[in-house]
Amino acid sequence: MEFVSHVIGTYHEIALKGGNRGPFERVLVRNVRAALAGLPVAEISVPSRVVVRFSRPVPWADVRERMGTVFGLNGVIAVDRAGVTYEDLERLVAAMLPAIAARSFAVRCKRGDKRFPLDSQQVAARLGAFVKTASGMSVDLEHPEATIQVLIQTDGIYVYRERVQGPGGLPVGTSGRVLVLLSGGIDSPAAAYMTLKRGTRANYVHFHSGPYTSEASVRKAEEIVRVLNRHQGSSRLFVVPFGELQQEIVRSCPEKLRVVLYRRMMLRAAERVARRSGCRALVTGESLNQVASQTLANLAAIDRVAHLPVLRPLIGLDKQEITAIAERAGTYELSVMPQQDCCSFLQPAKPVTATTHLACLQAERAFNADEWARRVQAEAEVRRVEPASWSRPAPDPFAEPLPCPAL
Ligand code: ATP
Ligand code: MG
Repeated sequence: MEFVSHVIGTYHEIALKGGNRGPFERVLVRNVRAALAGLPVAEISVPSRVVVRFSRPVPWADVRERMGTVFGLNGVIAVDRAGVTYEDLERLVAAMLPAIAARSFAVRCKRGDKRFPLDSQQVAARLGAFVKTASGMSVDLEHPEATIQVLIQTDGIYVYRERVQGPGGLPVGTSGRVLVLLSGGIDSPAAAYMTLKRGTRANYVHFHSGPYTSEASVRKAEEIVRVLNRHQGSSRLFVVPFGELQQEIVRSCPEKLRVVLYRRMMLRAAERVARRSGCRALVTGESLNQVASQTLANLAAIDRVAHLPVLRPLIGLDKQEITAIAERAGTYELSVMPQQDCCSFLQPAKPVTATTHLACLQAERAFNADEWARRVQAEAEVRRVEPASWSRPAPDPFAEPLPCPAL
C-alpha cells in the first residue's frame, strides 16, 4: 500500500485517565499535528481515537514513520473511510474485495458510536453474509486468512487496511520537563528516550572535556539531540566546559575517586542548569553495576550532592536491552561512531568501586566544589536544537518489539 487519505491513531494509557483524559488528548493531538507538519492535514479529531484526514493522499511510509515518534499512540492504522451508513460500508467493502486473495475471512467490528442503528455483531453478521456471497470465500472466525476490520466512529465508518505498532507511553508535554545528562555514549540517549516516552519534555546538558578532547563530542551530542527532538520539537542543549575542572580534580584529588568526583560535579552543575531552565529532575543513563561508578555505593555517594530527583530509567536493564532501546530511538548509530571520549590522563587506572559521601567531601576540600559548579554552568554555551528532518532515512520505529517485556 502506498498512499492513504485517512489514518487513525489508537491510544491506551490515556484512555485510563478518567476525568483527566481531555488535557492528555489535547496534547496528543498537538503532537500528532507537529509530527505531520508539512503534510496536507485537513482535520484531526479525537472521538476516542485520533482520526487524521488528509486533503489529498499521502505516502503511508512517511505517515507511519512520523506517527511512530508520537508517544501516547499504541497503534497507527491506515484506513479507508466508508461514509456514515451501513450501505456505504457495503459499497466500500465490495470495491476492496478484488484485492483480497484469500480462501477464508472474518469480519470484526468495533462500534464507538452507540447511536449507530446496528450493533457491532449485527454489522459483522450482515457484512459477513454479504462478503461470502459476493466473493465465494468461506467464513472462518478462528483462523481466517483475511480479516475485514470495521470501526464505527461518531464521524464515520472506517475499514482497516494496515495496522502497525505505535511507540506507546504518554504524550510528550504531559509530565513536566527534565534535564538529561547526555554524554554521546549509547546509554544516556536511551535514557532520554525512556523519559520522553513517559511524557516529559527534555533539555540536555553535555560536559565537554575541551581542550583535552575535540569539538567532535559536542557535534555528536547535538546530532543525537536532533534525533531525539523528533519526539518533542526543539529543545536546548547546554554545553558545559569541563576540562579545566577535571584537570583540577586530577591534580588535587586521589586518583581512584576521580570518576565519582566528576559525576558529583556534573550533578552540581546540572542542577544549576536545571533550575535556570525549568527542569524538575535530572536524568542519567546509569545502569546498576555496569561500571565502577555505577555500583550502589558510588551511586549513593553521587546522589548525595543532588537536591532534585535523579531519574535513572535504565537502572535495571542490561546492555542488550539498552542497545535495543537506542536502536529504536534512532540514536545507536550515532553513539557508536568513533570519537575521542575522554583524554586517557583524565581517567583513573583503578577506579574505586565503593566510596562514601564523606570520603568525597574530604577530597573535595582540595578545590572549591560549589564555586567550580557555579563557574562552569555560568560558562555554559546554550544551543537551540531543532528536530532532525524527515527527509533523511531514519530507523524503522516499528521494527521488532523490544526484548525487554517490561517495556
Ligand atoms: P553513556 O553511554 O551514556 O556514556 P556510560 O555507561 O558510558 O553511559 P558513564 O560514562 O559512567 O556511563 O556515565 C554515566 C552517566 O553520566 C551517563 O549515562 C550520562 O548520563 C552522564 N554523563 C557521563 N559523561 C557525561 C558527559 N560528558 N556529559 C553529560 N553527561 C555525562
Ligand atoms: Mg559514557
